[in-house]
Amino acid sequence: MTALFTEAKRRLREAATHIAVDPDVLEKLKYPKETLAASLLVRMDDGSRHSFKAWRCRYDDTLGPTKGGIRFHPHVRLEEVMALGFWMTFKCAVVNLPFGGAKGGVAVDASKLSKSELERLSRAYVKAFHNFIGPERDIPAPDMYTNAMVMGWMADEYSAIVDHPSPAVITGKPLELGGSEGRADATGRGGYLVIRHLEKEFEIEPDKTRVIIQGFGNVGFHCACLMHADGYKIVGISDSKTAIYNAEGLDPHAIHGHKLSTGSLSNAPSNGTLCEMSNAELLLEKCDILIPAALENQITENNANHVQARIICELANGPMTSAADKILCQKGKIVIPDILANAGGVIVSYFEWVQNKAGYYWPLADVHSKLRERIEPEARTIWEISMEKNIDMRTAAYVHALRRLSKAVTAHGTKAFFSS
Ligand code: NAD
Repeated sequence: MTALFTEAKRRLREAATHIAVDPDVLEKLKYPKETLAASLLVRMDDGSRHSFKAWRCRYDDTLGPTKGGIRFHPHVRLEEVMALGFWMTFKCAVVNLPFGGAKGGVAVDASKLSKSELERLSRAYVKAFHNFIGPERDIPAPDMYTNAMVMGWMADEYSAIVDHPSPAVITGKPLELGGSEGRADATGRGGYLVIRHLEKEFEIEPDKTRVIIQGFGNVGFHCACLMHADGYKIVGISDSKTAIYNAEGLDPHAIHGHKLSTGSLSNAPSNGTLCEMSNAELLLEKCDILIPAALENQITENNANHVQARIICELANGPMTSAADKILCQKGKIVIPDILANAGGVIVSYFEWVQNKAGYYWPLADVHSKLRERIEPEARTIWEISMEKNIDMRTAAYVHALRRLSKAVTAHGTKAFFSS
């Protein structure tokens, strides 16, 4: 996992070769600003007590309070949390949010906990980290295996500790507790908006473009529906168990309904021949756009050479290794990097925080138009940087973020020069 953090910083060094950056800026971004580790001692339903390792890392707060999800996963480690905090720093900078980057994690298999154990664990996290987080300091959100319900419990615990309602401490909450309209489909919608906005540059037209989506969860499902509604042909879809492909096109709504009623993508409704295959095979099927929306490290040096898609839009975080990235770029493919493609989620999280602080809630149409207004210009700028400097979109996104971070470090003044 240390490799993940080392890898993340390699991207920074690469971006720094394309612009003039003060070495002080790179030094500041080398390690997290602060990290806190804790052991969460939780009473289990059988009366025993169990301790879980937990972390929160505030990577960098140059642009504002830090922002990032809390991951519940049995294999979470500090180095992973640090790498994810680093990515959040750049993702927030890419889309010009007044936030730094952070991440949190608990080493736990949440699927093995009862609902009440999960609630006690979520509350224990906030008890342990309440001095570290805060609406003006560090604002958590959901990540893998945490959801709106968990965010609701955490916001409730924080409000009890500070003795007043404090919804802006956490985003991704249920609507009833101050969540934002439009948060559920924000990540898929953001990726869809980026693709639509750059259609001309990518030389694609919806009705002539075939799309494969790996992962049919929150992000993959919403992106599939939006693209399908605009005429894109969704030819392949997968979940953790099954992958389906139909060259004539699939209807994501009908497939979602089938999955809800049968629990599987197998035998999904389809006009024409439906092929079932493994997940690994689907990634290499014929299509124009491949959208990984499931897990990390799906495209590696072992399969990158066989990817047929010309455009890969990373809705998942880190779905390809850097070796695969290099192979795809050498072959002239366009990779829309995760720090731009999936930034719709943190953008609407930012809207939620703004609404909580203002105590004034926006209708869905406002959230949609503000998301569009924010992500489209950033996508265009990144495209232009990549053209101007003849670099791939990922490096261009890092260059774009680094410029912003660099200007902000400079604007903070010389205090650091005298104090350390
Ligand atoms: P989710 O749990 O709702 O869905 C994940 C989907 O991936 C499920 O359909 C699951 O069956 C499928 N899956 C799991 N293993 C798979 C495999 N080996 N092959 C194919 N499919 C597999 O999760 P989500 O919220 O949709 O997140 C998906 C990705 O997007 C993650 O990488 C996440 O970090 C990233 N992301 C999510 C958000 C957000 O707002 N939800 C924001 C930014 C990034």
